[in-house]
Amino acid sequence: MTFGLNMCGPVLMAFGTAEQQRRFLPPMLAGEEVWCQGYSEPNAGSDLASLRTSAVRDGEEWVINGAKIWTTKAHWADWCFLLVRTGTGERKQQGISFVLVDLKTPGIEIQPIVLMDGLHETNHVIFTDVRVPVENTVGEIDQGWGIGKYLLTHERMSGGALGTHKTLLRQLKAIAGEDEIVGARPLAQDPDFARRIAEAELALEVLEAFNLRAVDRYSTGGELAAKGIGAEANQFKIRQTELHQLLCELKMLAVGYYAMPYLISALSHGWNEPPIGAEYANGCTPAYLHFRKVSIYSGSNEIQRNIMAKAELGL
Ligand SMILES: Cc1cc2nc3c(=O)[nH]c(=O)nc-3n(C[C@H](O)[C@H](O)[C@H](O)COP(=O)(O)OP(=O)(O)OC[C@H]3O[C@@H](n4cnc5c(N)ncnc54)[C@H](O)[C@@H]3O)c2cc1C
Repeated sequence: MTFGLNMCGPVLMAFGTAEQQRRFLPPMLAGEEVWCQGYSEPNAGSDLASLRTSAVRDGEEWVINGAKIWTTKAHWADWCFLLVRTGTGERKQQGISFVLVDLKTPGIEIQPIVLMDGLHETNHVIFTDVRVPVENTVGEIDQGWGIGKYLLTHERMSGGALGTHKTLLRQLKAIAGEDEIVGARPLAQDPDFARRIAEAELALEVLEAFNLRAVDRYSTGGELAAKGIGAEANQFKIRQTELHQLLCELKMLAVGYYAMPYLISALSHGWNEPPIGAEYANGCTPAYLHFRKVSIYSGSNEIQRNIMAKAELGL
């Protein structure tokens, strides 16, 4: 749902034709069509504008060749929004177009990438002479860079899973309150650990206030507000991903040696085996490893800082 509702949806609402909005928005909203994001390439991650997947026009069709990498959920998706090179210009940001591709189109090969948590979530997607109607281009041909950046602002603001953070904090407090971990004295009574939990809780409250302010601006200011959100999206992305990783880290510390059994199958639907050690430790290590990704995707946190330094501080 994320790639459709939070990313491609706002793009279609702002830049799509009436026909594109009519065709794509209702099934997106109903969850009937799943989307994925084809931005990154083997040699174009942080330096996204260096992308080389090409779309060459043949009549009313694009012929697409190239490869995308890290394409999350491509193996489940029906559609992919792609940034492709359709032209050249003085700057590499020119000549890029934003194109919608039906993943059932012949010539698309989806190869799994298994991450360090052992799960198959991302993919290497290879395009060989893939024919896509030119009418699937969103916005002007060769002007896709601005659209791609507009999408990224929505992506970075929507990544804030505050509900997940709150659940993690609640679990952390419960685990730290258990006395079996450190013998007679629960971890929550250790002043240093209690201070770290309190710092995380404060950071979460600040993040929530930040998020509510942005939602308010979106809902009252429409398009202008979305444009004005710029650097706040970068700041939000950094803060929420750092907090997410901190909470996972504190949970690992609280769980202690019960984090050692790495039961990936415990994450699967229907897992019903007795836990090894404490029940609350189930899935702790895979989750810790899994969420290392959040400071990398959507543009790494280093890149978010670079953008802010340039846009806000003029550096
Ligand atoms: C789990 C996961 C899921 C993803 N899902 C998707 C997806 O669905 N669709 C998609 O298109 N992409 C996706 N990505 C790709 C993601 O956006 C890129 O990995 C990210 O932009 C970084 O690019 P890179 O991997 O090429 O690293 P690189 O660009 O090679 O960067 C390597 C390191 O160098 C640092 N670095 C690079 N340039 C600079 C600089 N100028 N200043 C300071 N530091 C710098 C980076 O911060 C990073 O730490 C996903 C990535 C991951 C890990």
